[in-house]
Amino acid sequence: MAARITRSPAEAASVLKRGGLVAIPTETVYGLAANAFDEKAVARIFEAKGRPSYDPLIVHIADAAALDQLVRTVYPEARLLAEKFWPGPLTLVLPRKENVPGLVTAGLDTVGIRVPDHPLTRTLLAMLDFPLAAPSANPFGYVSPTSPAHVAEQLGERIDAILDGGVTRVGLESTIIGFPEGRATLYRYGGLESECIEALIGPLNYAAATASDPSAPGMLKKHYSPSKKVLIGDPAALAAQVDAPFAILSFRSRYKETGALEVFTLSARGDLQEAAQRLFMGLRTLDALPVKYILAEWLPDKGLGRAINDRLRRASAR
Ligand code: AMP
Ligand code: MG
Repeated sequence: MAARITRSPAEAASVLKRGGLVAIPTETVYGLAANAFDEKAVARIFEAKGRPSYDPLIVHIADAAALDQLVRTVYPEARLLAEKFWPGPLTLVLPRKENVPGLVTAGLDTVGIRVPDHPLTRTLLAMLDFPLAAPSANPFGYVSPTSPAHVAEQLGERIDAILDGGVTRVGLESTIIGFPEGRATLYRYGGLESECIEALIGPLNYAAATASDPSAPGMLKKHYSPSKKVLIGDPAALAAQVDAPFAILSFRSRYKETGALEVFTLSARGDLQEAAQRLFMGLRTLDALPVKYILAEWLPDKGLGRAINDRLRRASAR
């Protein structure tokens, strides 16, 4: 049966209390949520997404006060980050308490946690006496959903409800910070600029985010991938080289006269925030066209441009 689409947090809450799966809006992307303490419900998330059990889920809580219920240690930097950036697109990976099911954390001794910043989901979390485990609401490995329609198209038959909160504002998944040996370390670039984090707590360790063969879960080299081949570089030069129909994903130029079937411009005014918000929409739009290639260009290597480039790199990985 197709998922019920609702704008009522109360209706979403009643589905979740019965052990159901609800796609929830956040400021980053749509999440596929279940009661984090209900192992059966959490198992259904992995099943619906086709997600391998070694990839841990992020736990969503109503506010920072709920942290102590789930983790053993909150490092001073983590406390500062939570105070400053929650609710917001920042996930903190911290040593977990026993009550967090191993299925949620893929058997790790740590758990990823954040407070999402979307009014409907905040209302929903306030109605529940349990946190929500929620990865992005897309089939494993594919581009994350930034609208309820994206969720309905791909997972509509496998989940119970979609809480419709419109198109997501940030459009990229959360930035993830962990504390291996107590050192603040960037695990994934995302919707909160690393510069903002460093301005608060000083230089981060980048080892995990830049490893060529990352071993940390979720640092998968190939991810966020459309089904078409993504090539990154100068789109005009790439256009001259390819032998089959193609589309272009550009930062700000229109790339006229390249012969592209379509050009999706992320931000004509060169605004990184707008580009981030439109990135996954752009990849999905171009992926649906009768083309063999998507030619994309690098964005400036700063702020949200870093997170966008990270997603492009992984979308292009074989
Ligand atoms: P998604 O919500 O689909 O973006 O996926 C959640 C991601 O959060 C995972 O793929 C990991 O990258 C990350 N994550 C969650 N929990 C942990 C953890 N305990 N340790 C390291 N990374 C984590
Ligand atoms: Mg995901």
